[in-house]
Amino acid sequence: MAHITNLYKNEFADFCEEDGQKPYFPPSELQSVFDSHAKLTQAQIDAVRRHFLPGIRTDIHFGFSSRADLNAAAGIRNQRGVFRINKGAVLVPADLFQRMLSHPNILKSVGNVKLENLKGQWNEGLGRDIDLMHESRKLKGRPVQAKHPNDPVRREFSVAARHIAYDFLVFHEIGHIVTGHLAFLEDAAGINTIYEAMSGGASIFRCHTVHQAIELAADNFAIGQGFPIVIDCNNHLGHDWRDWPEWNNFFSTPEQRLYAWCFSIGALFQLWGLKTYLGDIRYIRKQDYPPPAMRYFAAIGTVQSFLEDRNDPIMKNFKNIADKAFVDLNDSIHAIGGPKLKSEDIDPIYSSDGKAHFSRLRKCMGKLLPRFRKYSWISLRGEYGV
Ligand SMILES: [Zn+2]
Repeated sequence: MAHITNLYKNEFADFCEEDGQKPYFPPSELQSVFDSHAKLTQAQIDAVRRHFLPGIRTDIHFGFSSRADLNAAAGIRNQRGVFRINKGAVLVPADLFQRMLSHPNILKSVGNVKLENLKGQWNEGLGRDIDLMHESRKLKGRPVQAKHPNDPVRREFSVAARHIAYDFLVFHEIGHIVTGHLAFLEDAAGINTIYEAMSGGASIFRCHTVHQAIELAADNFAIGQGFPIVIDCNNHLGHDWRDWPEWNNFFSTPEQRLYAWCFSIGALFQLWGLKTYLGDIRYIRKQDYPPPAMRYFAAIGTVQSFLEDRNDPIMKNFKNIADKAFVDLNDSIHAIGGPKLKSEDIDPIYSSDGKAHFSRLRKCMGKLLPRFRKYSWISLRGEYGV
């Protein structure tokens, strides 16, 4: 792993081993995929570094770990930031977007859908563990790798979608480090690692509300960093999709880019389970994370405020675009064999209990912000730490 300095290699291995993981060394056929994601991740760290206050420490190291699910972890060790991205966080969304965009009944308005066919579509639904998905394909005698879309525009959409999702994941981890979440937790409670895990595992936090508020704050940081890249075509991460000849066929207008962002981020939360934890507020309050549906709608609310604040003309179409992306995403997931969300799956978010829980989290974020400020590596401006 060229991106981990020799100095830091052993410390990264130790970081992985603390929860029984190993650094991941991709096989030769996946080397270029992980090299390009490592480059992207470094560009994200560098982008955040440019916002640092002078004289503030800036060491952040990262690597890939061998876990196959869509998750990550962030920590601080000896005042340096470290985070790991599971190999599943690279491969699971990539696999999903390839299966979606190579399907002839999904996103028919993107590219030339006539070039896609149903051959090789196995109705696998939403796989969340890339090793299990590959294993099951092997057992069924199917190709292990999901096929790529045939149409070049659809192919580029699938890669752009995976980059958008990946940006969000990585900026979320960087957010835990640079906005002071971890330094605060270490000082206050001796916690120096946040293990992202949507389900299972005992919480290291005594207070679930604090943990959930911290997760929402990291989401907001991730959106603050990642969304402008997409909506404004601000290519400071060096995404190669901006150079693709087919890019303009789908991404030339802000409306198209907002749609692509909502679709891609929505898919990420669908993978984490939009239906999870809904319905019983007592149950929600005992989780480490806000329900994924709440996180998703909070994310949409954050980009809406971002665009409103700058009087963006896209606001007159905002709701239509976000709603269409959500409906299209649900249809797409259903078309590949996944569950179709019903309104009762989402309604609890907007129930009085759901709203009360969300405002409790907002209040908690507001209280935490002044405490984070003391530990933050960057200048925290707003309520959300961005
Ligand atoms: Zn987190």
